Order: sequence, then C-alpha cells, then structure tokens
Amino acid sequence: MKASTRLVHFDACPNDPYRPVATPIYQTATFEQESAMEFGRYDYSRSGNPTRTVLETQLAVMEKGTRAFCFASGMAAITAVTRLLRPGDEILACDDLYGGTCRLFSRILSHGGIGVRYADGSNLKTFRSEIGPRTRLIYIETPTNPLLRVIDIRPVADLALRSGALLCVDNSMMSPYLQNPLDLGADIVVHSGTKFLCGHSDVTAGIVVVRDRGIADAIYLVQNGEGAALGPFDSYLLLRGMKTLAIRIERQQTSAQRIAAFLSEHPLVTRIHYPVCADQRSSKIHSSQARGAGAVVSFETASADISRRVVESMRLFGITVSFGSVTSSVGIPARMSHASIPHGVRLSVNVPETLVRLSVGIEDADDLIADLSAAFDSAARHTSCASLAPMAARS
Ligand SMILES: *Cc1c(COP(=O)(O)O)cnc(C)c1O
Repeated sequence: MKASTRLVHFDACPNDPYRPVATPIYQTATFEQESAMEFGRYDYSRSGNPTRTVLETQLAVMEKGTRAFCFASGMAAITAVTRLLRPGDEILACDDLYGGTCRLFSRILSHGGIGVRYADGSNLKTFRSEIGPRTRLIYIETPTNPLLRVIDIRPVADLALRSGALLCVDNSMMSPYLQNPLDLGADIVVHSGTKFLCGHSDVTAGIVVVRDRGIADAIYLVQNGEGAALGPFDSYLLLRGMKTLAIRIERQQTSAQRIAAFLSEHPLVTRIHYPVCADQRSSKIHSSQARGAGAVVSFETASADISRRVVESMRLFGITVSFGSVTSSVGIPARMSHASIPHGVRLSVNVPETLVRLSVGIEDADDLIADLSAAFDSAARHTSCASLAPMAARS
C-alpha cells in the first residue's frame, strides 16, 4: 500500500463487534477487569488506551518503525527520549535547533548532570569532531528550522553507530509522508504532532517512533511511568487529522514551490531558504533522503524593519509561532520560536532578525501570492529610502 492509501485504510477499532469506521474515543480513565487475578489488555489509560493504541499503531507503520508512543506534546516526547540518558552522558545536537528543544537541553537537563554540545550538523567534519567519549545521543533536525539547512542523515547515523550513540531525528518539518529517518539508519524519530501530522492547529501532541525492542521497552517505561501520554480525545483528533496528511502535504508543498519561485523574483527578497533552492550539494542530499521540499519557506530582506512590515501587512498568513497547519502562517523566528533559546547558549548558527518564515497552508496559491505581493508593496511604501539603501548592494 502507498502512504496515501494506508493513511485512510487501517483497522479503526480492533475487535469491536460493530466495526466503526472512525475510531471511537475511549474516554475512560480505567477499565474493569475480569477478576482480581487476571488483567485484560487495558487497565488504566495512562498505561494504555484503545484510541491511543490505534493512533500509535498507525504512526509506527507510517514512520517505518515497530512501535510508536504518543505524548501530550512534542516536548514531552523529546523529554522521554532524553530519559534514556544518565548523569554524565552528553548530547550532541545540531545547532539550528527548535528553540524549545534547546531550552530543554540547556536549562533543564543540565540540572540532571546531562551535558549538551551544539554543532553545525550540515558540516560533517565539525560535527564529528564534537563527539566525545560521553556522547550517548546525537540529535538532529533536517531540514533545520527555521534556516532549512539540510543534514545528511545516513553518514550521521553511521557516526552514531561507530561512536556507540543513538541517533534521534526530529522529523516534524517533513512528516512521515516525505521522509522516514529510521530507513536511513536513525534509531529514534520524534515528531511534534502539533504540526503537519495534526495539521489543523487543534491539538498539541508528540510522538516517539523506534524499531529496536529494547529502546521501545525503555520508552514505554517512561510513557507509563512519568504519565505524559496523549489523552483519548486528543488521540482521536490526531488520528482524524492524519487521514488527510498526504493530500494536505501535496497541496501545501506545490503552493510552497510557487511561493518560493515568486520570492526568488521579488526585488525586496535578498535570500531564500528552501531545500530545493539551496546549494547543489544540500539540495542533492535532501532529494536523496526526502520525497519533497515541504511547505515551510523562509526568506530574508535587507532590514528587520522591512521584514516586520511585510509580516504585519499580510492578511491570509496569520502571525503564529507554529507551522504545518491548513491555514498559512508567518513569523519572525528570531523574535518568536527562537526566543526560547536561553541567553548564554552560544550557537554558531545565527538566525537573522530579517528572517521571515512562512508555513504554507491549503488556501488557493493565487490568493497567497497576492497577499504576499500586497504585503511587500505596503512594506515598500512605508519603508524610508534610507533603510532601503542596502538593497543597492545586493548581488
Ligand atoms: C513545535 C516543535 C517541537 C515541540 O513540539 P510541541 O508540540 O510544541 O511541544 C519540537 N520540534 C520541532 C521541530 C517543532 O517544530
């Protein structure tokens, strides 16, 4: 079965005599047992819930793993992965990292004696040189967010294997429809289900997918033992959203490509960040590991003032910190999602104040381009000639 078929063809409710087509919401905390001595498949919803099981089974299949575990948010899922580490262990993470992940690594895990190093994952040589004897987890996103840098997953997986570390890939940006890191050698995949997987901005959720049985058992222990599992109603919503993942991504990606083309011709745009617009090497790596460029496009202008005015003049692109929804959104990462990077954490990556990130939704692409175009016109009208001067230097 191809992914788009599998997304809608699965057992919605195993063993249900009425064969519902949509998965029922088992909104119950506890399950009555046959006897005091024998326990059934489910006993308590923190430990397991039928709605969540259907969702987890579906995610394991889509992400080419053996087991998936759903959590209350992406951050809860990522936290669960870090529970595999012990005091003294170290994480090596790519440095164009989701702000919340950086905050977790640098401000919370450090209290538990876990160290973290950041390096440019797209430069394999630098990245390799940062691996130390205590590195137990290599953690990357690709394409990174918001600079859309591409990291070659296969050699990093190889690096992890040879240094006795696990490789975890945050696949939120691509979704399992476009990229499957476990097939490329990763040990663990995490998602913010809040983004493309849900797609409707109505749930926060996180997912951990693994292949290895030992890692699966360890993650289950954390899910059950710490109690941050996704609830039944949110599991239902996520499952419902995922049914349209393929058509949403196809549509959003096609529009994103048109928007990237529009931006590349626009005189106020000084630089575009989009995997297929990247340098040849990156774009080749990306095509070798993903089935498309996705629906997030970032661009820069000549000044923070122009960028802010463009963002604030848009009507269809709402100013939100998230991405991956059916409605288009826009943000200035340096001021929004990246603001959660703790002061004092020095990353070699620099997210410019002029960077604007677009998440392209399912609206008509003509409308979106018209909105962008009008926003640029308005920004140009309001921006004084002085701040436009650097434009002349644009090559
Ligand atoms: C949003 C996001 C997260 C965190 O997920 P939440 O559901 O917001 O907790 C992690 N990684 C990436 C890449 C994200 O975009």
